[in-house]
Amino acid sequence: MTSPLYGQMMDVPLLASSLLSHAARYFGDTEIVSRRIEGDIHRYTYRDCEKRAKQLAQALIALGVQPGERIGTLAWNGYRHLECYYGTTGMGAVCHTINPRLFPEQIAFIVDHAEDAYVFFDMTFAPLVDIVAPQCPKVKGWIALGDASCIREHLGDMEVPLFSYETLVTAQDGDYAWPVFDERTASFLCYTSGTTGHPKGALYSHRSTVLHAYGAALPDAMSASAGDAILPVVPMFHVNAWGIPHAAPLVGAKLVFPGKDLDGKSLYELMEAEGVTFSAGVPTVWLGLLNYMKEAGVRFSTLRRTVIGGSACPPAMLRAFEDQYGVEVIHAWGMTEMSPLGTLAHLNFRQKARSPEEQRKSREKQGHVIFGVDMKVVGDDGRELPWDGRSFGDLHVRGPWVIDRYFRSDESPLVDGWFPTGDVATIDADGFMQITDRSKDVIKSGGEWISSIDLENIAVSHPQVAEAACIACAHPKWTERPLIVAVLRPGATVTREELRAFYEGKVAKWWMPDDVVFADELPHTATGKLQKLRLRELYRDYVLPGVAEHPA
Ligand code: ADP
Repeated sequence: MTSPLYGQMMDVPLLASSLLSHAARYFGDTEIVSRRIEGDIHRYTYRDCEKRAKQLAQALIALGVQPGERIGTLAWNGYRHLECYYGTTGMGAVCHTINPRLFPEQIAFIVDHAEDAYVFFDMTFAPLVDIVAPQCPKVKGWIALGDASCIREHLGDMEVPLFSYETLVTAQDGDYAWPVFDERTASFLCYTSGTTGHPKGALYSHRSTVLHAYGAALPDAMSASAGDAILPVVPMFHVNAWGIPHAAPLVGAKLVFPGKDLDGKSLYELMEAEGVTFSAGVPTVWLGLLNYMKEAGVRFSTLRRTVIGGSACPPAMLRAFEDQYGVEVIHAWGMTEMSPLGTLAHLNFRQKARSPEEQRKSREKQGHVIFGVDMKVVGDDGRELPWDGRSFGDLHVRGPWVIDRYFRSDESPLVDGWFPTGDVATIDADGFMQITDRSKDVIKSGGEWISSIDLENIAVSHPQVAEAACIACAHPKWTERPLIVAVLRPGATVTREELRAFYEGKVAKWWMPDDVVFADELPHTATGKLQKLRLRELYRDYVLPGVAEHPA
């Protein structure tokens, strides 16, 4: 329908396929390099990638896949996974990325709930497919990301309807035009980790995917450009690798995929070999990389900046990257329900005029929204709190790439049109947001809140501490008090008393942790975050010093 009020510009829908087409046409020779699970390095170009994505789309049509049907992926970061991203969504189906680090029961639940028609899988996940396939009767076929001989050799005894990806793709000629359809059509489906209850699906649209890619590429977001070689460590199986597989073709950047080897040495060598300028990942992965670099005594020759998010980036990590290696750290926050980018800590003109210490303090926060995301913190009465950098409240967001409702759920999660993130945060006068906790992790001491993230950051700034978690421990007078569970570096000698004393002068007296315990390792979720729920269970009966007996 046309209206006399309409502008007279082309009504071109925002479709994911146009990102790849753009890269293939204008950056056709730009490389996509992948370390394959086969062990070798694979390289081809955006032009080759689009051709194979089209062949895949044809193959899916030949299999009878209909627009709107979900196609699962269980795969590492690599060129075939990228083809799955574009081949499925390009022909109108939904690319459902599945996190292989979840428990098999959760994976079976997700595949069944999504009603995936087919599932692509990297051959490393064959044992997983063997376990979950019998619980997923709606799946018509499991497509191994390899050629027929590989499958014969490695997957010969699998008892599921099995296809070879290469056989399917190479049977097609790639002579295919991406169909044009409504930009509100579903594009990607990604389930949250479901730390409590069943995982829930966030169903993105082509419109939200493309808008998010524009947002992600902005200078004050990832600042992606055709001059970059980008290595996403953040997995394509979780929240679309923070949008990098869309933002990179949008700007024509070279892509470097690390496959399954995410240890410090493998990442470092790949970054050096491929001239990587920019990377993104969660703090745990960077910890491995920094440790390797320290031990091996090596430096980066091309890496310029890295986005760190998914959980709070400890200030000590930011300092290590910048002061020791000259790599700029951009702290970022987001979540599955937000496609995922929300805020990034880039300083504005006024902030850059402040002292280095003040600048660093701002950059340790989760940062400023990018256009497309609106946020506020609200108090218990639902009223917006002031932007004073001190008032804690529930963080609410809205925008065109923020979830409206969960996949196959009729209930709206929104409050007055805003999505409650489940995070507790402050916003300061610069509009910089700082996460103080997940609402369920905050420590409630005598009616006041203590930020577990702040106390963890102090612990890991101690040179002998490798990793630390701060959890609430039951207390008869204060209800909850902070307990630090720390993993020490090899050869460390620091004692519990010394670590407690380390907090003096760094936090208000009533924030001082009541006790410190040492552990060999800390439990992590499937997305590499500290599993605080599990830790709270482990230390449920822990009796704090000075407390006669456990209050429960
Ligand atoms: P899940 O772990 O359930 O899969 P997501 O990967 O979507 O969920 O994670 C979203 C959550 O991760 C946020 O709500 C927030 O609690 C946490 N998070 C993400 N980035 C940061 C950050 N930079 N600092 C602190 N917490 C973060």
